Amino acid sequence: MGAVSVKEWMQNVIKPEQIEKYKDNGKDFINEAHINELLLKKCQPEKQEIRDIMAKSLNLERLEPEETAALLNCTDEDLWQEMYQTGLQIKQKVYGRRIVTFAPLYISNYCVNSCVYCGFRGNNDQSIRQHLTMDELREEIKALVQKGHKRLIMVYGEHPKSDAHYIAETLKVAYSTKVGHGEIRRSNVNAAPMSIEDLEILRDVGIGTFQVFQETYHHSTYKKLHPRGIKADYGWRLYALHRAMDAGVDDVGIGALFGLYDWKFEVLGLLFHTIDLEKKFAGVGPHTISFPRLEPAVNTPFIENNSYKIDDETFKKLVTVIRLSVPYTGMILTARENPSIRQDVIQVGCTQIDAGANIAIGGYSKGSVDYERQQFILGDNRSLDEAIRDLAKLGYITSFCTAGYRCGRTGNYFMEIAKKGKVHHLCMPNAILTFKEYLLDYASPETIEVGEKLIQNEFEALPNDLVKKQVTEFLRRIEAGERDLFL
Ligand code: SF4
Repeated sequence: MGAVSVKEWMQNVIKPEQIEKYKDNGKDFINEAHINELLLKKCQPEKQEIRDIMAKSLNLERLEPEETAALLNCTDEDLWQEMYQTGLQIKQKVYGRRIVTFAPLYISNYCVNSCVYCGFRGNNDQSIRQHLTMDELREEIKALVQKGHKRLIMVYGEHPKSDAHYIAETLKVAYSTKVGHGEIRRSNVNAAPMSIEDLEILRDVGIGTFQVFQETYHHSTYKKLHPRGIKADYGWRLYALHRAMDAGVDDVGIGALFGLYDWKFEVLGLLFHTIDLEKKFAGVGPHTISFPRLEPAVNTPFIENNSYKIDDETFKKLVTVIRLSVPYTGMILTARENPSIRQDVIQVGCTQIDAGANIAIGGYSKGSVDYERQQFILGDNRSLDEAIRDLAKLGYITSFCTAGYRCGRTGNYFMEIAKKGKVHHLCMPNAILTFKEYLLDYASPETIEVGEKLIQNEFEALPNDLVKKQVTEFLRRIEAGERDLFL
């Protein structure tokens, strides 16, 4: 496609009426004066107030912004220790000792935008551009399936080369490529905001969760960091997931890129985003929240000179406050972080991680790391097998389960059971079954040894004899060669 037609394409992407219809009295849900006022008002929270808020979170109730502001402003280190504990307790209560694992798959890095922090920005002439053909994509999928992956997050830059029709084709390839027992059972998508009509195309081919991260909720910072392209429109991005819900894609993922602006403001931005989705879609908020931290990227000087950098301690705090604020929402921790931070932060309430990640376009089938084809530089380069083994040593079972989505346990249904703390009644048995498949088909002898012990422990802890009986039967059938059995 030539330069002129790219320009024409860009002029037709944004549909102003699909922004305006979601606003209240012409205003979006990020009221900066109100957020700043909350942070100021709650600048010295009392000990008892913090403990009362923790009790509310533990009761699996979403916090109000004023309560989240109080947590964000806590300066008592002993109370932070209590909050870390509470974060873990909430996670155990809702999700059990289970971590869902997925692989990121970068499909195309052509991009019409120029986000100053991103290695893929259109004006980065040191980024090597690539756009997978369906044959190349098939090779990537095969390489991932052969490692044991069942879930993907497929990532695309914003460009006519990766429009909704292209994304739909790639989803079909992801679902139809099989290797032996292996297959991709769930493909989530991280792509540019789309119109309701385009999202309906993706709904029809079985898109998993649709993720769009606002990056920063602060209007003027957003404007400064996204100077050109479609992404310069804050409102088009802010309501991307409202449109997804209207298109019938009822699992959506929000996120902020921490390190672009004040972290306390961004946490409240995420909470207001959750509240607006819940308000407008009958109580169904985001399925997941992501909180990537800004990482170095090739030829991207903005990152070195940026003053909002988040240190490890603050990172752990912000993850904890998100956990406490939306106790029933999935939280995704990515391989941007190094293994020791990941192990630490998992303990305050994360529910999903990527593992064995290679974020270079075409990187899995080539088996190499290629910084010129990456959006940023990864902190965790462990293989899937190593990551799973480390989690197992911590007592976490890796789940490749995708049963919930395929049985329609999404959107409203999922939120209902999550809010009642009942997800793990089905999910832990299914985690055991998919983990068993992984151990049989892909694991190293060391991982098998740790993993089998873990399965035994988790089996003993299952809620009742009926479930145990069914799991025993399914384990027997899996050992005999059957796959994809779930409760
Ligand atoms: S962050 Fe996304 S939209 Fe922005 S330049 Fe990078 S790939 Fe493009």
